[in-house]
Amino acid sequence: MRINYAVGVDVGGTRIAAGLVERKGRIVKDAMCLTPKGGPFAVVDAIIDLVEQVSAGTQDAEVAGIGIGIPGQIDFLRQSIEFCTNLPLAGVDVRSLVMSRTKREVTMDNDGNLAAYGEARWGAAKGARDFQMITVGTGVGGGMFLNGEPYRGSRGLGGEIGHTVIDLDGRPCPCGGTGHLESYVGRPAIAEKGREAAATYKGRKILAAAKGDLEAVTAQSVVVAAQHGDEVAREILLDSGTILGRALVGLVNIFNPKLIVIGGGIGESADFMVERAAEVMRGEALAGRRDVTVVQAVLGNDAGILGAAALSFDEHDSREGVH
Ligand SMILES: [Zn+2]
Repeated sequence: MRINYAVGVDVGGTRIAAGLVERKGRIVKDAMCLTPKGGPFAVVDAIIDLVEQVSAGTQDAEVAGIGIGIPGQIDFLRQSIEFCTNLPLAGVDVRSLVMSRTKREVTMDNDGNLAAYGEARWGAAKGARDFQMITVGTGVGGGMFLNGEPYRGSRGLGGEIGHTVIDLDGRPCPCGGTGHLESYVGRPAIAEKGREAAATYKGRKILAAAKGDLEAVTAQSVVVAAQHGDEVAREILLDSGTILGRALVGLVNIFNPKLIVIGGGIGESADFMVERAAEVMRGEALAGRRDVTVVQAVLGNDAGILGAAALSFDEHDSREGVH
């Protein structure tokens, strides 16, 4: 029987989503649940439950396998979860647990790598051999393709552009480091600047986006106010764009990518922030490396599911020697 489908699972700190994906990248069935708070096995059960929901009615022989994106550091060769800040999955053998219950092949990867995988196969980086994906959301993640292949580093822990040092004595980062990019452009940083502004008259439109409740101001309030043309909110996001652009300078100088794709909830909702980042990068990167294109990601919320499915198809094909 022809392999028609793969299952992609996107595990996040607040929700888990799964989809049954066709080879051409169409999600034919999907399901979602809130991430259970009851420990690692509750999360694994939720993954298995979603996989069963979306693959019900398919024959085993027509499914390539299951790809799972985890918001943490994955040792890709060992398929182990080394570090996971938002979920209690570090050291848990998620792959074996899901394999033994579903009887299907399972491959895990970091969510940033999988976003890159999805955009490379079906999105903004289609056909690009050398590109960097950056996801700006609560955290800042990423994945890299070199010579048409995902580059994960010696154990699969690479590509973490969010933890680039941009300020020697800077803000503490959730990873334990100091002055990392993530602590300046992720949602918590934008929310904090939004609250500061909303406490004064000039930030009234941000406050209005949070229904007048200062405590309820989030990064989303800033994005919404900016989308309605509020200059103060736009400035906050433009500052993030400037910082992101500075971080891109080093990346472009070292790797000379053809393309940089910026996604994630913040990256996809503020095109002007992405433009600012591109401008700053072009102004500072070394000559000859300025012709890199910077675009927004296009797969949106489906990026995780699609990337995980693309990985699963590839793993299946390499197991079976299909090219
Ligand atoms: Zn960090």
